[in-house]
Amino acid sequence: MSDNPFSTTRRDLFKLAGGAAVAAFGGSLAGSAKAAAPMLGVMRPAIYRFKLGAFEVTNLLDGYVQGSPHPTFGNNQTPETVQAYAKAQGLPATKMENVYVNTLVNTGKELVLFDTGNGRARMATAGKLPDLLVAAGYRPEQIDVVVTTHGHPDHIGGLMENDKPVYPNARYVFGETEFDFWRKGENIAEARKANREQFMKVAVPFGEKATFLKGEGEVVSGIRSVPAFGHSPGMMAFYIESEGQRLLNWADVANHYIFSIQQPEWHVGFDHDKEAGAATRKRVFDMVSTDKIPVVGYHMPFPSIGFVEKAGASYRWVPASYHFNL
Ligand SMILES: [Zn+2]
Repeated sequence: MSDNPFSTTRRDLFKLAGGAAVAAFGGSLAGSAKAAAPMLGVMRPAIYRFKLGAFEVTNLLDGYVQGSPHPTFGNNQTPETVQAYAKAQGLPATKMENVYVNTLVNTGKELVLFDTGNGRARMATAGKLPDLLVAAGYRPEQIDVVVTTHGHPDHIGGLMENDKPVYPNARYVFGETEFDFWRKGENIAEARKANREQFMKVAVPFGEKATFLKGEGEVVSGIRSVPAFGHSPGMMAFYIESEGQRLLNWADVANHYIFSIQQPEWHVGFDHDKEAGAATRKRVFDMVSTDKIPVVGYHMPFPSIGFVEKAGASYRWVPASYHFNL
């Protein structure tokens, strides 16, 4: 467990807090005979492995970011509308945490990693994937296939570290439309210029030996792509299927479990084509709710596996419980 950054943090905090508690006790013998247990801070679950037929699927919490729901969610709504809706849903009106969750599939023949997280350099609260991978029982050299769902920084940031591939033995898979969009660099929005530079630096070098998927394509036996364009020009979602059990890794079809799923038509600030993003959400929600297909999502609350149910004219996210432990 020493490779788990969260347990290291906890131990360090404990040492510090324990020292302070002893000092306080020494200064006040009249107090309780026992020092109060120190406060240790929020500790998030960060690894969840479950079964899907003969496959093992592991979700790993690369990290999180905190901010405000608006204007990312309800980008075409007023701040007041979004704040009132958040409150009505029992969420903080002006604060939000969003997670980054990587999915690793062991098919029994190959280890397939979906996206590579933020990388260690981007922010202090993310970039944990490489350490968690080890804590979960894998080595970076064991990864056979790295699939990039789309080219945004939270998905490509961990492809390289210090100009070297983090997963040195992997084959790389990209959606062709997505890869071409970033490589060509036409019609890049001002806010995405740095993103494009990053893609050129960390993703394009893999182009030589990559596999490019167009429409529905096979990654390995049991994993195939399905186009989910809108959030980015060529984002791919992926069906993962073993022994008749199937789930959809929908990448960023929804970026929030309440705002995106219950209000699919609300524009999302990060979406490349906001109307196409909304159309894809509605199409995918309708499909997975009608066919009762479980979903893994990069920004769904950890452990990021659940179901979408119809709720009146809209939808809601229902987290899985023990469904996939059995
Ligand atoms: Zn994302």
